Amino acid sequence: MRVVIARMQHETNTFSPVPTPLAAFGTGNGAGPYYGRDAERAMTGARVAMGAMLDAARARGCAIVTPLAAMAYPSAPVQAAAYTRMCDAICDAVAAGCDAILLDLHGAMVAENSDDGEGDLLERIRALAPDTPLAVALDLHANVSPKMVAHADILVGYKTYPHIDMYETGEHAARLLFDMVDGRSRPVLGYAHARVLAQTLEMNTNRAAMKAALDGARWREQDAGILACSVFGGFPQADTAAAGMSVVVVADARRRGGAALAQRTADWGADFLWSRRAAFIFHQEPLADSIVRARRAAARANGRPVILMDHGDNVMSGGTCDTIDVLGAALDAGFDGIVVGPTCDPQAVAQMAAAGIGAEVSLMLGNRTPMPGIGLDAPRPLALTGRVRMLSDGTYTVRGPIFTGDTMYMGRTAVLDTGRAQIVVTSQPHEPLDLGCFTSVGIDPGAARFLVLKSRMYFRPVFEPLAAAVVPCASAGVTSSDNAIFRFSRVRRPIYPLDPFAARARRP
Ligand SMILES: [Zn+2]
Repeated sequence: MRVVIARMQHETNTFSPVPTPLAAFGTGNGAGPYYGRDAERAMTGARVAMGAMLDAARARGCAIVTPLAAMAYPSAPVQAAAYTRMCDAICDAVAAGCDAILLDLHGAMVAENSDDGEGDLLERIRALAPDTPLAVALDLHANVSPKMVAHADILVGYKTYPHIDMYETGEHAARLLFDMVDGRSRPVLGYAHARVLAQTLEMNTNRAAMKAALDGARWREQDAGILACSVFGGFPQADTAAAGMSVVVVADARRRGGAALAQRTADWGADFLWSRRAAFIFHQEPLADSIVRARRAAARANGRPVILMDHGDNVMSGGTCDTIDVLGAALDAGFDGIVVGPTCDPQAVAQMAAAGIGAEVSLMLGNRTPMPGIGLDAPRPLALTGRVRMLSDGTYTVRGPIFTGDTMYMGRTAVLDTGRAQIVVTSQPHEPLDLGCFTSVGIDPGAARFLVLKSRMYFRPVFEPLAAAVVPCASAGVTSSDNAIFRFSRVRRPIYPLDPFAARARRP
């Protein structure tokens, strides 16, 4: 039995100015995707959905074809040539003949030539192989479209954020696929869009309404006839028709009423999300108020850092990694002992590298990338004077607990020390997901009074245990939680909270 297994992942922020060429699909090293045997080698043993799919197919003794393994960090719509190249790789493998297909997709991919990256790919595959069993694992942040549902037999989403069940989700999708192949089930999908444009900061599955929703999904999976129940938080910085929360249920059509059960359960889930809609909206305070709170928190921090969480410029959601408002506000407030995580500014790095370690430099930092998607066309860098403390190639190995052992690439990196602030300046956007982004350039983040981190979730397992407090700080960036700065034109209306008083239209 021949199985095609592939991975194509990108969470597209349609407001982001950060480009997404084919080379971006190599997790930061500029090498582009893996193809063929390289894809299989790279994903073997990986704790992601494709890793589990490979394990499941091997356990059955299948012949495995791996046309593609591609993942890029969130950024602007994928360049047309890159999207076409990756889809062609998968479609060519399917066209060559196979008995089953397993895909590890994100679910919120937009390309320059596709508003529905996954939906269009699945439609192409279905045209080539109308009857071949097809299962897809999706990210919890998928903006699931009717087209995706129409062209897959099985869709299963992650149930955790931070995502710690990618492997288990791939395992689940593969198990359902092989049950289908063996005639033990006949999957049918139910789908309901909740009409809620939820914010990422309120999608932590360990807390509040999102926890309740996911607990409910797990509970429904115990029901007879239900093979999977997935709640999707969606990705809100996506101006696409499918953006927002949704529920997909896989039921067994061999049971009487299987299709109705799938749809009824999906509607039940979407009704729940709608009923708790206010809980999925993060209400951000003005930056000046956050600075006041940070000052108070520092007064009782007992030597531990207060984290200024710069969530408007979250790299892993398409942020430019170069907004500078939070540092500017902290300096204006007279703070000292500030340590600033990766701030991308290749020009400033080049200037510091030319000056050399120990040299005093005056430079302009950050706010260099125009953000026309949110109407910020004329950015204003911050003028700073300080000493070059360190220069490095920006490569480090992650100590964990997430991405443990992975090599990270920040590009050529320099540390600017202004006396009151030590700033890690990088040549590539990089989210502070490990202490290594500081320790690799000689900084102990635990010794800071204030720690500025451009992140909203990935910093938590590593930096929260060190900190006295985490204060969310709103910078003007493309991952802001302030819907008012985004001009949505394609999102299907009505949707909460853009249309706060509308009733939920039932069904997709
Ligand atoms: Zn995600």
